[in-house]
Amino acid sequence: MAIERTLSMIKPDAVAAGNQWAILEHFRESGLNVVAIKRIHLTQAQAQAFYAVHAERPFYGSLVKFMTEGPIYAQLLEGENAVAHHRAVMGATNPAEAAEGTVRKLYATNIERNACHGSDSLKNAAIESAFFFSGSEIVALG
Ligand code: ADP
Ligand code: MG
Repeated sequence: MAIERTLSMIKPDAVAAGNQWAILEHFRESGLNVVAIKRIHLTQAQAQAFYAVHAERPFYGSLVKFMTEGPIYAQLLEGENAVAHHRAVMGATNPAEAAEGTVRKLYATNIERNACHGSDSLKNAAIESAFFFSGSEIVALG
């Protein structure tokens, strides 16, 4: 399996609840390493741009409002098969459908306030990484 990088976010609900470090440790214990991280309060324009792919969905306005209600953590995670692995560790979008032991099962409230984000493809991981991090902010291990 290939070493990949994926863009991960801890969303405002989880940060407000103080769960950011537990969630980060959950990802690290699963074999993902942090190669970049920042705490940021997204503007409306930033949240709209990040989720532009969902602009036509009925939940878009509510999602943007949620994602701007408080700070988030954005981190670039590296590991074997990182994109799919990170999504498996996060669990299903809807915590009611998420497997036991996943981050969303443990920390999410509902399908919108679901604690974390993870890139869904290697291509989107690269796009989303560039959204948050410049080259000099990404420091590989070793
Ligand atoms: P994922 O984050 O698992 O990749 P999507 O890309 O489909 O899920 O959706 C992006 C985000 O939009 C979700 O993580 C969640 O916060 C929100 N969302 C998705 N579907 C709904 C819905 N039906 N109602 C409200 N919010 C939703
Ligand atoms: Mg998605």
